Amino acid sequence: MKAAVLYERRTPLVIEDLDLVPPGPGEVEVRLVASGVCHSDLHHVQRDTPTVLPVVLGHEGAGVVSAVGANVTRVKPGDHVIIAFGAKCGECFYCVRGMPYLCTPANPARPRLARGNQTINQFLEVATYAERTVVSEKNVVKIRDDAPLAVCSLIACGVTTGIGAVINTAKVEPGSNVLVIGTGGVGLNVVQGARLAGAARIIAVDVRDNKLEFARAMGATHLINAEKEDVVERAKALTGGYGVDYAFEVIGNPKTILQAYESVRKGGVAVVVGVADENADLTFKPVWMMRQAKTLMGCAYGSSRPQVDFPKLVDLYMEGRIKLDELVTRRFALDEINEAFRAMEAGEVARGILDLA
Ligand SMILES: [Zn+2]
Ligand SMILES: [Zn+2]
Repeated sequence: MKAAVLYERRTPLVIEDLDLVPPGPGEVEVRLVASGVCHSDLHHVQRDTPTVLPVVLGHEGAGVVSAVGANVTRVKPGDHVIIAFGAKCGECFYCVRGMPYLCTPANPARPRLARGNQTINQFLEVATYAERTVVSEKNVVKIRDDAPLAVCSLIACGVTTGIGAVINTAKVEPGSNVLVIGTGGVGLNVVQGARLAGAARIIAVDVRDNKLEFARAMGATHLINAEKEDVVERAKALTGGYGVDYAFEVIGNPKTILQAYESVRKGGVAVVVGVADENADLTFKPVWMMRQAKTLMGCAYGSSRPQVDFPKLVDLYMEGRIKLDELVTRRFALDEINEAFRAMEAGEVARGILDLA
């Protein structure tokens, strides 16, 4: 089975032939059809993170169940599935409280990938830059057969994280003014989440004009190029001097997190969706939390419950209420993964997809 392996940070991924274990009790083998290419994968190439190498990256996959282990009841071979990333044990402190995005399982998943004697790790327990994967049945979400699997792979991360941040985390009300800083694959989905929620003004911020045009296509009503204009001033000018009701930071940079917080009105909410560097620090004026009653919120995986949210998002797409095809600017083969990373970093694509079938 072919997969893209990261052996050493800040080096290209290597396409290898790997051994995949057959699915054990409670596990499912999925023949992957596609995997979205997400900035979070690239972070683990470029930054020093807790992820242990060597690892097969990729966490935005969809495919067809090809085999099931003992005691699997949720799916059967032939079912179309989107794979939710990260542990989803269903039993821990967080899972039983309906917060599977914070799952802290009692036991880690067993190793499922190897190259000869060398164990290869699965990124976020899913490893979707591969032709096939074996995951816990709790990570797979069965979806309707008539939905196109390749674009539905984007629901596994970017779409759910972005739309979920708006609908589940912040609970944006119709008529709200919303600011979105960073219009990459996730930020564009915050924009379309805001549109879905009935936001009045959706102000998109980026430093690249072509990415701002992607945001316009997803429903942004106003665009700010942060290299040419002051974001906080513009956000206030567009909202009668008050500031926006909600600001979403989708980069993970302390400077833009502060910008988001400064852009919200009194009583407003700033949500951090972006992944900051492990060692980044943030300094801000906490007096605003009392005097201006502002909220600074965190958000993981769009506060989603994949078993509930994935099928809903598929239905919204099939009814023409959210856009997926427009997100896919380029498609790549598995062995073009390093080129897909380059194109993403250069801001050339809204989202790239690896075709794996
Ligand atoms: Zn992602
Ligand atoms: Zn759990």
